[in-house]
Amino acid sequence: MKNWIFIFIATVSWYGCYSQTEKTTKMDSTKNDNPVSKADSSKPILSDEEYKKVLSPEVYYVARQKGTERPWTSKFENLKDIGTYYCAVCGNALFKSDTKFDSGCGWPSFYEPISKGSIIYLPDNSHGMTRTEVECGKCKSHLGHVFEDGPPPTGLRYCINGVVLDFEKAKAAEKSFDAEQAKPKDHS
Ligand SMILES: [Zn+2]
Repeated sequence: MKNWIFIFIATVSWYGCYSQTEKTTKMDSTKNDNPVSKADSSKPILSDEEYKKVLSPEVYYVARQKGTERPWTSKFENLKDIGTYYCAVCGNALFKSDTKFDSGCGWPSFYEPISKGSIIYLPDNSHGMTRTEVECGKCKSHLGHVFEDGPPPTGLRYCINGVVLDFEKAKAAEKSFDAEQAKPKDHS
Protein backbone atom coordinates (compact mmCIF):
# COMPACT_ATOMS: atom_id res chain seq x y z
CA MET A 1 0.00 0.00 0.00
CA LYS A 2 2.80 2.36 0.96
CA ASN A 3 4.39 1.74 -2.43
CA TRP A 4 1.22 2.77 -4.22
CA ILE A 5 1.05 6.02 -2.27
CA PHE A 6 4.66 6.71 -3.18
CA ILE A 7 4.02 6.05 -6.88
CA PHE A 8 0.96 8.32 -6.76
CA ILE A 9 2.93 11.17 -5.16
CA ALA A 10 5.81 10.69 -7.61
CA THR A 11 3.44 10.76 -10.58
CA VAL A 12 1.71 13.90 -9.34
CA SER A 13 4.99 15.75 -8.78
CA TRP A 14 6.31 14.58 -12.17
CA TYR A 15 3.17 15.83 -13.87
CA GLY A 16 3.59 19.14 -12.05
CA CYS A 17 7.07 19.60 -13.52
CA TYR A 18 5.89 18.40 -16.90
CA SER A 19 3.07 20.94 -17.18
CA GLN A 20 5.45 23.67 -16.07
CA THR A 21 7.83 22.79 -18.93
CA GLU A 22 4.91 22.53 -21.30
CA LYS A 23 3.85 26.07 -20.46
CA THR A 24 7.36 27.38 -20.92
CA THR A 25 7.93 25.74 -24.28
CA LYS A 26 4.62 26.94 -25.65
CA MET A 27 5.39 30.57 -24.88
CA ASP A 28 5.86 32.95 -27.77
CA SER A 29 9.20 32.32 -29.45
CA THR A 30 8.92 35.08 -32.01
CA LYS A 31 10.69 38.14 -30.77
CA ASN A 32 11.85 40.26 -33.63
CA ASP A 33 13.65 42.98 -31.71
CA ASN A 34 16.81 40.88 -31.51
CA PRO A 35 19.70 43.29 -32.21
CA VAL A 36 22.00 40.39 -33.05
CA SER A 37 20.99 40.09 -36.68
CA LYS A 38 22.23 37.78 -39.41
CA ALA A 39 23.78 40.74 -41.19
CA ASP A 40 26.06 41.47 -38.28
CA SER A 41 29.32 39.63 -38.88
CA SER A 42 31.08 40.85 -35.75
CA LYS A 43 30.96 38.68 -32.64
CA PRO A 44 27.98 39.78 -30.56
CA ILE A 45 28.83 40.52 -26.98
CA LEU A 46 25.63 40.97 -25.06
CA SER A 47 25.31 40.85 -21.32
CA ASP A 48 23.17 38.19 -19.71
CA GLU A 49 20.52 40.82 -19.00
CA GLU A 50 20.46 41.89 -22.64
CA TYR A 51 20.14 38.29 -23.85
CA LYS A 52 17.29 37.81 -21.41
CA LYS A 53 15.49 40.79 -22.93
CA VAL A 54 15.92 39.88 -26.60
CA LEU A 55 15.54 36.09 -26.53
CA SER A 56 12.33 34.18 -25.91
CA PRO A 57 12.36 32.34 -22.53
CA GLU A 58 12.89 28.91 -24.07
CA VAL A 59 15.77 30.05 -26.32
CA TYR A 60 17.35 31.89 -23.39
CA TYR A 61 17.05 28.81 -21.17
CA VAL A 62 18.82 26.52 -23.66
CA ALA A 63 21.26 28.95 -25.27
CA ARG A 64 22.41 30.95 -22.26
CA GLN A 65 21.67 28.63 -19.32
CA LYS A 66 22.78 25.41 -21.02
CA GLY A 67 19.29 23.96 -20.74
CA THR A 68 17.90 21.03 -22.71
CA GLU A 69 14.58 21.02 -24.53
CA ARG A 70 12.30 18.04 -24.00
CA PRO A 71 13.03 15.27 -26.53
CA TRP A 72 10.67 14.79 -29.49
CA THR A 73 9.42 18.40 -29.22
CA SER A 74 11.45 20.10 -31.96
CA LYS A 75 9.77 20.91 -35.25
CA PHE A 76 13.16 20.26 -36.87
CA GLU A 77 13.57 16.71 -35.60
CA ASN A 78 11.88 15.14 -38.61
CA LEU A 79 12.36 17.96 -41.12
CA LYS A 80 13.78 16.68 -44.41
CA ASP A 81 13.84 19.98 -46.33
CA ILE A 82 17.03 21.02 -48.09
CA GLY A 83 18.64 24.11 -46.66
CA THR A 84 20.82 25.49 -43.89
CA TYR A 85 20.44 25.53 -40.12
CA TYR A 86 21.53 28.72 -38.35
CA CYS A 87 22.07 29.70 -34.73
CA ALA A 88 18.73 31.16 -33.55
CA VAL A 89 20.58 33.63 -31.34
CA CYS A 90 23.05 35.24 -33.78
CA GLY A 91 22.34 33.80 -37.26
CA ASN A 92 25.69 31.97 -37.58
CA ALA A 93 25.44 29.14 -40.16
CA LEU A 94 25.85 25.82 -38.28
CA PHE A 95 24.70 22.77 -40.26
CA LYS A 96 23.62 21.81 -43.76
CA SER A 97 20.52 19.68 -44.19
CA ASP A 98 22.47 16.99 -46.08
CA THR A 99 24.43 16.20 -42.91
CA LYS A 100 21.22 15.72 -40.91
CA PHE A 101 20.19 12.15 -40.09
CA ASP A 102 17.55 10.21 -38.14
CA SER A 103 19.33 9.35 -34.92
CA GLY A 104 16.15 8.38 -33.08
CA CYS A 105 17.42 10.24 -30.01
CA GLY A 106 14.64 12.82 -29.94
CA TRP A 107 16.68 15.85 -30.96
CA PRO A 108 17.77 17.11 -34.41
CA SER A 109 21.03 15.30 -35.23
CA PHE A 110 23.83 16.06 -37.67
CA TYR A 111 27.11 14.28 -38.46
CA GLU A 112 29.13 17.35 -39.43
CA PRO A 113 29.05 21.13 -38.87
CA ILE A 114 29.03 23.49 -41.86
CA SER A 115 32.61 24.60 -41.19
CA LYS A 116 35.34 24.08 -38.59
CA GLY A 117 34.88 27.47 -36.99
CA SER A 118 31.09 27.33 -36.81
CA ILE A 119 31.17 25.29 -33.60
CA ILE A 120 33.16 25.47 -30.34
CA TYR A 121 33.84 22.28 -28.34
CA LEU A 122 34.00 22.23 -24.55
CA PRO A 123 34.40 19.38 -22.04
CA ASP A 124 31.23 18.90 -19.99
CA ASN A 125 31.39 16.82 -16.82
CA SER A 126 28.00 17.81 -15.44
CA HIS A 127 25.29 15.33 -14.34
CA GLY A 128 27.94 12.67 -13.61
CA MET A 129 28.71 12.21 -17.33
CA THR A 130 31.75 12.92 -19.49
CA ARG A 131 30.45 14.66 -22.58
CA THR A 132 31.54 17.23 -25.13
CA GLU A 133 29.39 20.32 -25.23
CA VAL A 134 28.98 22.21 -28.50
CA GLU A 135 28.49 25.96 -28.62
CA CYS A 136 27.93 28.41 -31.47
CA GLY A 137 31.30 29.55 -32.79
CA LYS A 138 30.09 33.13 -33.04
CA CYS A 139 27.97 33.96 -29.97
CA LYS A 140 29.01 31.03 -27.74
CA SER A 141 25.43 29.97 -27.12
CA HIS A 142 24.89 26.41 -25.91
CA LEU A 143 23.63 24.19 -28.75
CA GLY A 144 23.86 20.63 -27.43
CA HIS A 145 26.48 17.86 -27.31
CA VAL A 146 28.52 15.78 -29.74
CA PHE A 147 28.81 11.99 -29.36
CA GLU A 148 30.98 9.43 -31.11
CA ASP A 149 28.15 7.14 -32.22
CA GLY A 150 27.19 8.87 -35.46
CA PRO A 151 27.13 7.56 -39.02
CA PRO A 152 29.96 7.73 -41.60
CA PRO A 153 31.88 9.64 -42.81
CA THR A 154 32.58 11.33 -39.44
CA GLY A 155 31.15 8.84 -36.97
CA LEU A 156 29.91 11.82 -34.98
CA ARG A 157 26.45 12.73 -33.77
CA TYR A 158 25.83 16.40 -33.07
CA CYS A 159 22.75 16.24 -30.87
CA ILE A 160 21.29 19.74 -31.06
CA ASN A 161 18.41 21.48 -29.30
CA GLY A 162 16.02 22.50 -32.08
CA VAL A 163 14.93 25.61 -30.20
CA VAL A 164 18.34 27.24 -30.79
CA LEU A 165 18.19 26.51 -34.54
CA ASP A 166 16.73 28.56 -37.37
CA PHE A 167 16.16 26.86 -40.72
CA GLU A 168 16.35 28.47 -44.13
CA LYS A 169 15.46 26.55 -47.27
CA ALA A 170 18.05 26.35 -50.01
CA LYS A 171 18.31 29.60 -51.95
CA ALA A 172 17.95 27.88 -55.34
CA ALA A 173 14.65 26.28 -54.39
CA GLU A 174 13.48 29.57 -52.96
CA LYS A 175 14.33 31.45 -56.16
CA SER A 176 12.57 29.04 -58.49
CA PHE A 177 9.54 29.14 -56.21
CA ASP A 178 9.56 32.96 -56.28
CA ALA A 179 9.95 32.96 -60.08
CA GLU A 180 6.96 30.62 -60.35
CA GLN A 181 4.92 32.96 -58.17
CA ALA A 182 5.97 36.03 -60.20
CA LYS A 183 4.87 34.51 -63.54
CA PRO A 184 1.97 36.43 -65.08
CA LYS A 185 -1.22 34.45 -64.58
CA ASP A 186 -3.00 33.22 -67.72
CA HIS A 187 -6.58 34.40 -67.49
CA SER A 188 -7.66 33.40 -71.04
ZN1 LIG B 1 25.24 32.01 -32.33
